[in-house]
Amino acid sequence: MQFIDLKTPYAALKTDIDAAIHRVLDHGQYIMGPEVQALEAALATFAGTKHCVTVSSGTEALLIALMALGVKAGDEVITTPFTFAATAEVIALLGARPVFVDIEPDTCNIDPRLIEAAITPRTRAIMPVSLYGQVADMTDINAIAARHGLPVVEDAAQSFGATYQGRRSGATSTIGCTSFFPSKPLGCYGDGGALFTDDEAIAQAAREIRVHGQSARYTHTRVGVGGRMDTIQCAVVLAKLPRFEWELQRRRELGARYHALLAPLAAQHPGFGLLTVRPDRDCVWGQYTVFVPERAKVQAALQAAGIPTAVHYPKPLHHQAAYAAGCCPDCCPGSLDAAARVMSLPMSPDLTEADQDRVVAALAEALAGLAADA
Ligand SMILES: *Cc1c(COP(=O)(O)O)cnc(C)c1O
Repeated sequence: MQFIDLKTPYAALKTDIDAAIHRVLDHGQYIMGPEVQALEAALATFAGTKHCVTVSSGTEALLIALMALGVKAGDEVITTPFTFAATAEVIALLGARPVFVDIEPDTCNIDPRLIEAAITPRTRAIMPVSLYGQVADMTDINAIAARHGLPVVEDAAQSFGATYQGRRSGATSTIGCTSFFPSKPLGCYGDGGALFTDDEAIAQAAREIRVHGQSARYTHTRVGVGGRMDTIQCAVVLAKLPRFEWELQRRRELGARYHALLAPLAAQHPGFGLLTVRPDRDCVWGQYTVFVPERAKVQAALQAAGIPTAVHYPKPLHHQAAYAAGCCPDCCPGSLDAAARVMSLPMSPDLTEADQDRVVAALAEALAGLAADA
């Protein structure tokens, strides 16, 4: 069993994807070819934003978003420490400081009740992460941001396709950023990403920043980056779009099925628990993650049963050497607790129910083994 099955989706669309790639090879516009604009139009429609700007990765989307907002040295950006490093990395790359705010223990997303206390005169933006595929509490976060005149950037790398109060992830704040890394809900076959916004000026800035700050050829009006998404990768995502709604539906169904099958274990085993999905949103399970006791033992037992697992993420960023300076080691106890207990199970749209049953049975056996040892 694979942790994430990337081969079956390709096999299902092989004819279309191969043809799309070959069209690019034949027309030869490998950079900023027609598929780039076509994908941006399709994704803006899908997400429900006025603008979509494709870029070279999810990390680059976050970086370009902050650059478009004018984040610079000495500024502060509020975010969560319980995320992939890229979220805080782009803040630090601009010479700004990530200010870490703890998470809600039941969703692992940033706790909006803790944000206001972290705002200072140097705060320039709030950057929530829609972890595991569930959008963060954007209504509360947007309200706080509005009171302080701050923009909000959603890190939607794991949640593209999820809905929140009837809107799509990526379309719930000033800017939404996603990733098309192969294992994300909408993956390409290399690196890719996109920004979403309704703000014309931000979209224009992002388009210029991704091509070295050019407003016209060799007219560099600002400092930018080389951040374009390859035409071939845009063609791959375009070819994958017709199956995406079905894949999202499978993710929701498999997530609900995992929840139903695992709920009895949560009642039985102290320390084992499930994430909460809030009623005003859904989760597309970029990762299907649970809380487990004695994680190393549980992972070893699952591995012995042929079930791959992963940990997202074992150490929160305020405890990582690159980001620990200037933050208090005790500031985010919820993130530390989650980092010690989370474990992700195999999840992809083509996971079969039989394989899912095997995962659940192996996990039940591993937990029973812990209870027997105790
Ligand atoms: C994957 C991911 C990123 C980075 O995306 P890349 O396309 O790999 O650069 C950023 N934030 C989160 C939460 C992610 O999961």
